[in-house]
Amino acid sequence: MVTDSGETNLLGNRAIVVGAGMGGLMAAGVLARYFSEVIILDKDDLPDDFVPRKSVPQGAHVHALLVQGRRNLEKIFPGLTSDLIDRGVVCSRGGLEFCVHDDFGWQPKRDLDLLLLTMSRPLLEGTVREHVMRNDRVSIRGKCRVEGWDVTDGVLTGVTIKGENGPETVAADLVIDATGRSGNSLSWLEASGYGPVEETTLEIGTGYASALFKQPENWSSPVDSMSITTAYPDTRGGFLFSVEGGHWFASLQGRFDQQPTGDPDEFMAFAKSLCVPDYYDWISQGERVTPIKTYKAPISRWRHYDRLADFPERLLPLGDAVAHVNPVYGQGMTLASSHAMDLWDILAGQAANDGVLDGLAKPYFDRVQRFTQSVWSTLENVEYTYAGTKGNRPADIDMRIAYRAGLRKLIDHDADLHKLMIEVGHLVQSSEVMLAPDIMARVMDVIQATPQANAAAAQ
Ligand SMILES: Cc1cc2nc3c(=O)[nH]c(=O)nc-3n(C[C@H](O)[C@H](O)[C@H](O)COP(=O)(O)OP(=O)(O)OC[C@H]3O[C@@H](n4cnc5c(N)ncnc54)[C@H](O)[C@@H]3O)c2cc1C
Repeated sequence: MVTDSGETNLLGNRAIVVGAGMGGLMAAGVLARYFSEVIILDKDDLPDDFVPRKSVPQGAHVHALLVQGRRNLEKIFPGLTSDLIDRGVVCSRGGLEFCVHDDFGWQPKRDLDLLLLTMSRPLLEGTVREHVMRNDRVSIRGKCRVEGWDVTDGVLTGVTIKGENGPETVAADLVIDATGRSGNSLSWLEASGYGPVEETTLEIGTGYASALFKQPENWSSPVDSMSITTAYPDTRGGFLFSVEGGHWFASLQGRFDQQPTGDPDEFMAFAKSLCVPDYYDWISQGERVTPIKTYKAPISRWRHYDRLADFPERLLPLGDAVAHVNPVYGQGMTLASSHAMDLWDILAGQAANDGVLDGLAKPYFDRVQRFTQSVWSTLENVEYTYAGTKGNRPADIDMRIAYRAGLRKLIDHDADLHKLMIEVGHLVQSSEVMLAPDIMARVMDVIQATPQANAAAAQ
């Protein structure tokens, strides 16, 4: 509850966030409204400048900030967008200055009235970190590795850290697990007697290779950035984003045996072999200014904490620790931001109610589960167009793939539907809007008129 002075009712003394990545920082921004002290613990030595760091190796690869992610970040950290713009991030009009080639070709060029910001992940994370640190209630402890949960009688009372003289416990009223995709927190949960946690997985076999290029001095183009994917069996594509400092961030990606490598000649040859010439044309005019970094993302994983019969009080996982999806869709930070908004809703409800911190997990997981389900099923519609994808293939997937193809066909001549489709991709709208009766009727007409899609749908 917000009081007359603008303060919210406090829910506790100390909250701890494990992980100072994008999810952890957003969670801390929310928690600082409800706790007198918020401590963020991270095993990395956190940099003062905007450089990739050891435990977030994905920071060396293109990170798209989706529209809904930017909006959520702005709600948590008012003024963030203008700070980013002051720091030289590139602002593009979606559909015109940021162009997308998908598995059906270039999407129509039209102004979708969506502002897209492109920047490096270290600049984004560093700016968000500065916003968090402006709040006197928040402190960050770098070089602090968490090694377990301290659970007593079903309540998480703190975290165990690796101290100078052995393990130490830091007590807290609430702990957020934002340890990311490669954190160990599942084993800490199991060591405390909970689990195993059921998972849904998709084997996607994705690999990235990325580098920063300096743009030529006199560079000028009506297009700032491009995202290239193509139709199976070609699984290769790339992202080329104009970012701060007159650079392009170039990430190439492919699946299974078509992944890019870190070899400079192979990198350029891969770019040249993409289905459109623009990517190679651009980077071959620039100068590569960083080594090429690679990253393997073999699997998308969704942890169903909500299905556990028992879950400790005072612990809530968020971000990649709950679900990490194929990075090519650029949704990870926005998913984490939606979890942070869920956390905010739940805490606001408690503050307005009895102010008690127990029983948070169930309503929180219900929200997280609903949103993740909607994102996950939309992703399945694309992932299963690749024959190598392995997972629990839904029975209706062929129909869903045909439906997506039908929709895609319609956007060529329908600007409103195009905008809606992009808004769904940017998680501004739920994918269910695409099942509205008028849209469905038109898509079904397209499917019936397309023999190939029709055959797939009938399988
Ligand atoms: C190649 C690649 C490209 C991507 N591209 C995009 C994109 O375009 N758009 C997008 O939105 N998302 C993208 N993502 C996903 C995005 O990086 C994540 O979804 C996002 O970072 C999630 O944030 P997080 O806070 O959950 O995890 P992270 O940002 O990974 O942070 C986890 C933090 O926890 C800390 N930590 C872990 N264990 C411990 C411990 N024991 N003790 C203390 N600290 C610990 C780590 O040091 C780290 O700082 C991409 C991912 C990859 C792999």
